[in-house]
Amino acid sequence: MSDKKGRLFIISSPSGGGKGTVIGHIMDTEPELSLSISATTRKPREGEEHGVSYYFITKEQFEELAESGAFLEHAKYIDEYYGTPKSPIDDCIYYGRDVLLEIEVQGARQVMEQYPEAISVFIVPPDMQTLENRLRGRRTESEDKLKARLDTARTELEEKIHYNHVVVNDDAKRAAEEIMEIINKSKGEI
Ligand code: 5GP
Repeated sequence: MSDKKGRLFIISSPSGGGKGTVIGHIMDTEPELSLSISATTRKPREGEEHGVSYYFITKEQFEELAESGAFLEHAKYIDEYYGTPKSPIDDCIYYGRDVLLEIEVQGARQVMEQYPEAISVFIVPPDMQTLENRLRGRRTESEDKLKARLDTARTELEEKIHYNHVVVNDDAKRAAEEIMEIINKSKGEI
């Protein structure tokens, strides 16, 4: 075991909040930070790789893993399951590696309950129109799925009060810098 325990950082944002780009900037700049790879039952989008973007698994596999306690948290988002594999997170904490969880609001609540010292950041889009434009511009979802994501986004935005920090994603690089400042400031606090 390392002298210092690894810390958990939670980042949530409604779909279309632009967190992918923000997290990309953070991971490029903070080599000491690990990014947790989630498991999901949703189908891979173009360019997404198994074991890199997500572990893409079936509903049966997901349910079995959930049943066996393999997830730190898991949630159903729209019609698919998403979960954080527990053992890599336990290893990071044990060996003193800080880890970033990019998860939606229900999962974030579960992690906050288990690790009240975790630092949480909610990324908000500058306004709803920007969010809708980002979702539409991505062209990865059918109209039905897109509507469901927009509806979910509206409810998710209400959850921001449960987070330690709210960061506006007006510009991905600027938002990433603000989050890195939060991460680095918290080093002396936990
Ligand atoms: P997407 O399908 O756009 O990749 O992700 C949909 C939502 O699921 C996003 O809000 C994303 O942050 C969230 N998500 C990704 N991985 C996990 C996870 O392991 N657990 C939970 N609870 N949410 C996740």
